[in-house]
Amino acid sequence: MEQIQVMGVRGLPLIHAGDNIAAMICERMPVQDGDILCIASTIYSKAKGYTKTLASITPSERAQRLAKLNGEDPRFVQAVLDASADIIMEHPFILSELSFGHIGVRAGVDQSNIEDGMVIFLPPDPMKAAGELQEEIRTLARKDVGIIITDTCGRSFRRGQTGNAIGWSGFCAIRDFRGDTDLFGHVLKITEEAVVDEIAGFANFVMGESNNGVPAVIFRNCPKWTGHDSLYFKNDEDITKRVLKKEGRHQEMAKNRIV
Ligand code: GDP
Ligand code: MN
Ligand code: MN
Repeated sequence: MEQIQVMGVRGLPLIHAGDNIAAMICERMPVQDGDILCIASTIYSKAKGYTKTLASITPSERAQRLAKLNGEDPRFVQAVLDASADIIMEHPFILSELSFGHIGVRAGVDQSNIEDGMVIFLPPDPMKAAGELQEEIRTLARKDVGIIITDTCGRSFRRGQTGNAIGWSGFCAIRDFRGDTDLFGHVLKITEEAVVDEIAGFANFVMGESNNGVPAVIFRNCPKWTGHDSLYFKNDEDITKRVLKKEGRHQEMAKNRIV
């Protein structure tokens, strides 16, 4: 019987720009070959300095308009716009597409678990970040681990946020069951399992959202899987995005007719 171990890494201090989080994690919990190390994007971004003070941000006209519309600080909205490659929805919250393919509420910009008056951005290239962390741990600890960079995300259709993988290294994102047969010999035609999100979801549960102070979680003894890395829909595959953007255009047109 497989026994998967899940261990939160305790005892990490508040992370600041310049900190070597790979070393700090390995010092507190030795990793083993084959482990999967989940790291909250928030500490990666703090360590790399992907943060800003609100005071340093000058809001554009668009930021001011959206801030009024959604009841938010215009400087925070400007940070969200700066982090977005595309805006899918403006109201009742900004839904952004980031350049690395992720779609997230307020572009994943956070104001929690950092000093007052500061924002934390998602890492601009989380896949690269995961690859670098894996390499650092290989050098530091001489262990071959897989990495998942996680962020807590909202979702459609269901209340409640869950952890998602925004970057990974050492395995593929999706376990592909297509072509497999079920217990009755039926060939599976569409089943692809987003394993990195499932693991990120459990990691997020161990991390918690508030003052738990557990920004890293190690999974030991997970079974291996094979598949592919196309976690994000391509534009022509993403029905939800298409519908939301159309809805946004309709609202815009309706507004212009009224004015
Ligand atoms: P996100 O999901 O990546 O946006 O990160 P969260 O703000 O939800 O934090 C995830 C976990 O990491 C929680 O247990 C936080 O208390 C913890 N955490 C956040 N920042 C730090 C930090 O600088 N040091 C430590 N030790 N824990 C942190
Ligand atoms: Mn976050
Ligand atoms: Mn979180």
